[in-house]
Amino acid sequence: MEYQKILTSIQNEISSIDNTGKVASYIPELAKVDAAKLGMHLHCINSGHYHFGDNTEKFSIQSISKVFALTKAMLLLGDDLFERVDVEPSGDPFNSLVQLEYENGIPRNPFINAGALVVCDILVSKLENPKNDLLDFIHKLVNSKNIGINRNVFESEKKHSHRNMSLLNLMKAFGNIKNNIEIVLDLYIHLCSIEMSCEELSKAFMIYANGGKLLYNQEQIVPSRKVKRINAIMQTCGFYDEAGEFSFRVGLPGKSGVGGGIVAVHPGQYAVTVWSPPLNPKGNSELGMYSLEQLTTLTGLSIF
Ligand code: GLU
Repeated sequence: MEYQKILTSIQNEISSIDNTGKVASYIPELAKVDAAKLGMHLHCINSGHYHFGDNTEKFSIQSISKVFALTKAMLLLGDDLFERVDVEPSGDPFNSLVQLEYENGIPRNPFINAGALVVCDILVSKLENPKNDLLDFIHKLVNSKNIGINRNVFESEKKHSHRNMSLLNLMKAFGNIKNNIEIVLDLYIHLCSIEMSCEELSKAFMIYANGGKLLYNQEQIVPSRKVKRINAIMQTCGFYDEAGEFSFRVGLPGKSGVGGGIVAVHPGQYAVTVWSPPLNPKGNSELGMYSLEQLTTLTGLSIF
């Protein structure tokens, strides 16, 4: 497959598109990012790397970190996890409170904020130092220790986390949060503040393309059965209330974040990340979605 040629043609095409998206501003620090940033990096299972633009520049991965947190929690807890968080698409915005009230504090899935907060609660219960353990896990996936958080994003999000605090309070009232809510929120915001580049994210997500094995040494670090499930949840729940649209247009499992990043996985083939900060009205990177749609169209490869 001529991936570099395909990526270059995507780059040429999107450089002339009028981007109508808007950079996320509800966390003030995120609004400071340069809206013109654009990068893409594809890590192929058997033929190397292909990229363009700002693909080595670190950005705020935000909700993409929810995939790492879920993976870690599934390794620690097994299927019991799914008694506290469901695996259904929500059809509601990522930070919505409404479903929680009539579904008794059980979040629809681990990728909406409520679900990720339950996952963080589990990590706080199970791990002595969840922040470090999560970063260590990512370091192992990428085979690099050069990944950490952006302090300014962390502080900025902390000051504007009233909705996430409400979600925690509501779930605590239903008995689905076991720990101190300040500690759970602190871990959640820490995860959202992690910075990685398109190159690093694609490398990390290769475990989901490679049946749970690290590509660089073939060590099995996540059982393939769990990878199958994580990919299924990414496919059905990875794009807020636009998961159906992403499946329809791109046809790959993936996860987006309000920092403008999207990672998608073609199991057995590649992991690909695109970063363009302006978001569409549903909170997904506008050019990111378009680039990935073009990628699956031009490669003619699909999981379906
Ligand atoms: N830190 C964000 C929040 O909780 C994550 C949002 C996202 O990327 O979906 O609001």
